[in-house]
Amino acid sequence: MSEYVGGYSFDDYLRLISNFHSYPAPGLIVGGYMVEMAKRHMPPKVLFDAISEAASCLPDAIQLLTPCTVGNGWLKIVNLDRYALSLFDKYTGEGVRVFLDPAKLEAFPQIRDWYLKRKTKKEQDSDALRAEMRAAGEAVLTLTPVQVASKYVGKSSKGPISICPLCHEAYPKAHGGICKGCQGQDPYEAVAVESRPPLRAVAVEQAVGQAVLHDMTRIVPGRSKGAEFTAGQVLSVGDVCRLQHMGKNRIYVQDDEAAALGAEGWVHEDTVAERLTRSLCREGSVVSAGAPREGKAQLLAGRDGLLAVDVATLERFNLLGQVVCATRHHGSLVRAGQPVAATRAVPLYLPGATLAKALALLDMNPMLRVLPLRKARVGLLITGSEVFTGLIEDRFEPTMRAKVEALGSEVLGTALVPDDRQAIADAAARLLDAGADLLVTTAGLSVDPDDVTRQALLDAGLRDEVFGLPVAPGNMALVGRMLHQGREVQVLGVPACALFHATTSIDVLLPRLLAGLPLERRDLAGLGHGGLCLECPSCVYPHCPFGK
Ligand code: ZN
Repeated sequence: MSEYVGGYSFDDYLRLISNFHSYPAPGLIVGGYMVEMAKRHMPPKVLFDAISEAASCLPDAIQLLTPCTVGNGWLKIVNLDRYALSLFDKYTGEGVRVFLDPAKLEAFPQIRDWYLKRKTKKEQDSDALRAEMRAAGEAVLTLTPVQVASKYVGKSSKGPISICPLCHEAYPKAHGGICKGCQGQDPYEAVAVESRPPLRAVAVEQAVGQAVLHDMTRIVPGRSKGAEFTAGQVLSVGDVCRLQHMGKNRIYVQDDEAAALGAEGWVHEDTVAERLTRSLCREGSVVSAGAPREGKAQLLAGRDGLLAVDVATLERFNLLGQVVCATRHHGSLVRAGQPVAATRAVPLYLPGATLAKALALLDMNPMLRVLPLRKARVGLLITGSEVFTGLIEDRFEPTMRAKVEALGSEVLGTALVPDDRQAIADAAARLLDAGADLLVTTAGLSVDPDDVTRQALLDAGLRDEVFGLPVAPGNMALVGRMLHQGREVQVLGVPACALFHATTSIDVLLPRLLAGLPLERRDLAGLGHGGLCLECPSCVYPHCPFGK
């Protein structure tokens, strides 16, 4: 059976791949057997697409032996660097996957050493390897049925097309305000942009009567750091003396050359700061602290709430170079008027194209928002037979009430129930009937057989739950929602450890919940980084790294 590959004799196949691939690569030889094995296991007359999990060699075997090519869209490369391929019904996604199986290589030392890279190319005996592949045929392969994920099945549309304002090329509108290439994802080195325009410096003693081009800072360590001169200020003889005392020998002044820079596409730092501010503040919950000073714009919270930072956009903004933005942490609670971010141009004059990129990025998604915390009516469901029977005095009620009220919400009602599924579900329904729009349960979330709170909540209609958070203490917390008589109710399950630690995952979650941030698994996974509390003897949260 190993004599033929796809209707070719072994030697013909070697000639075919030598012509197509430039040389008879071992990956293409074994790849031929992989394709043929997969094809044989597809039902007859099924129109199939292909996925290659490797980017080199394997796609060529698929393109040679099937109608699927990268160009016609029937072959997709999902590069996992695994030597595996799948063929599947292009309408249903049902198919088979074949891979070169390391567990089957014991009897084939040449293939094993090549595949696992145990020999250098020089040490390999190509003829022996080829002979062994010919002898092995499909004996080194494993085939399994697969259902291909829906995003790879059927036609994919790029959607509407836009013209990128920076490169003037066509691109899918869904990628944002500028194309992915201009977002920095193209494979080319950035052409060195001259970041300093041809400005003429003037000797300080000759600058009397001229206007300075930018704010100038005087730093006296520990005493002052402010603009000693502001842009546009006309210099007197005394000023020249002060400048010399500041250690300045040459300065930039506003002259015809500087004025001409705007026409050449250069933008002054103050204008950059103003334009960035306008863009960052357009959503309204973040406001400008006033005119930029020394090229820097300060942004303040426009209201009380939770600062939501689009961290991915912030990172892309700071990758542009020549513009920078620093913010407080995503998820911080802020009061109106408190600083949330600062942004500026790095050079005195920024190339207009760089500003356009920065603005296009900011216009895609609001990078900074202050989300108000809603005033929740909390139904507090305290579970635990030991508390219910009075064996232990409940301390959850005051603890949770304090946390809820500190964020401006109120506790509408409290129910104390034993560890009983039905009792918990009934109590939850009663609290919701009474008008609670946030159900907070305490305890009953550990692995003990008596702990049934989660099951009871599921009985009561809990959905979209995330149970188990990468934040410690408080790993065993739960978030989700319920529909109650057409209303959506948020659910927060507080684990027992919230009684023993001053600060837990609940302190990180509750404000996010009240601010309406999405709380699905993928939103919460990022909390793991910085999610370990140091449990300091005297807790200063939120003024510490926890939950940031
Ligand atoms: Zn572009």
